[in-house]
Formats: sequence, structure tokens, C-alpha cells
Amino acid sequence: MSCERTGAKGRDQWRRMQMERDGYCMLCSSQPATEVHEIERRSHAPRTWAHTCNYLHLCHDCHHGRIPKMDHAEQLAVKLVCDPRNFALVQWLKLRDPDLRAPERVTMEDIANHLTANLALLRKMGSV
Ligand SMILES: [Zn+2]
Repeated sequence: MSCERTGAKGRDQWRRMQMERDGYCMLCSSQPATEVHEIERRSHAPRTWAHTCNYLHLCHDCHHGRIPKMDHAEQLAVKLVCDPRNFALVQWLKLRDPDLRAPERVTMEDIANHLTANLALLRKMGSV
């Protein structure tokens, strides 16, 4: 989904729509997902923040406890494991830098490093 909605109403509507689609927190998988986390902040990608590659469905505890301690590469590793159909690194990089002029802020290698460091997470998700 490519979304150009910028108003607060559109954002709330979009968040509700996402929440209804998935059941459980992508990070802990034990609590219902009640919040949507935007990996790239809306202020950095005002017209593209709602692309499906940019969000994680989380419980309140993970959203406010674990996620703030994770860098973008680690958050994208979670996205890759939990929502592979909507994982798209190049698309995600373009949210902030549509012409990809800046040096890559996150590489697949960065993401892979987090995956190997988090094998427990992968096993829990049934991916290994
Ligand atoms: Zn959680």
C-alpha cells in the first residue's frame, strides 16, 4: 500500500485498519498488537510514511520498552522475520530519500547481523 494521506484523520484511520489486520505483537508474539510503530518517522517521510514496509504491529510494552532501544536495522530485521511479504529495504530507504542520493543508512548486511544475533527470536517465530 502506498499512502499519501497526511492528515491526522487519515493517519488514525490507517492505524485502525492495520490493527484490524493482525492479531499479535510482532516482537513478543504473546500479547495482542494494540499499537502501530512507524520505523521511519512521519516527520522524515511526510508523504510516504504509511507504506507497508514502514510499520510494525506491537503491544504497548514492546512499543515503549524494547523498540526505542533498537536501531533501524534491528527494527527492519524484525520486519523481515515477522512480515516478510511487506519487507522491502530499497522501498524503505526511499521513504526518506526518494532518489537514493544519500549513502545507504541501513544495508542488508546490517539487518543480517541482527538476525544472526537474534537467533532466539527467529526460532521463536518458527523461521529457523
Ligand atoms: Zn510485544
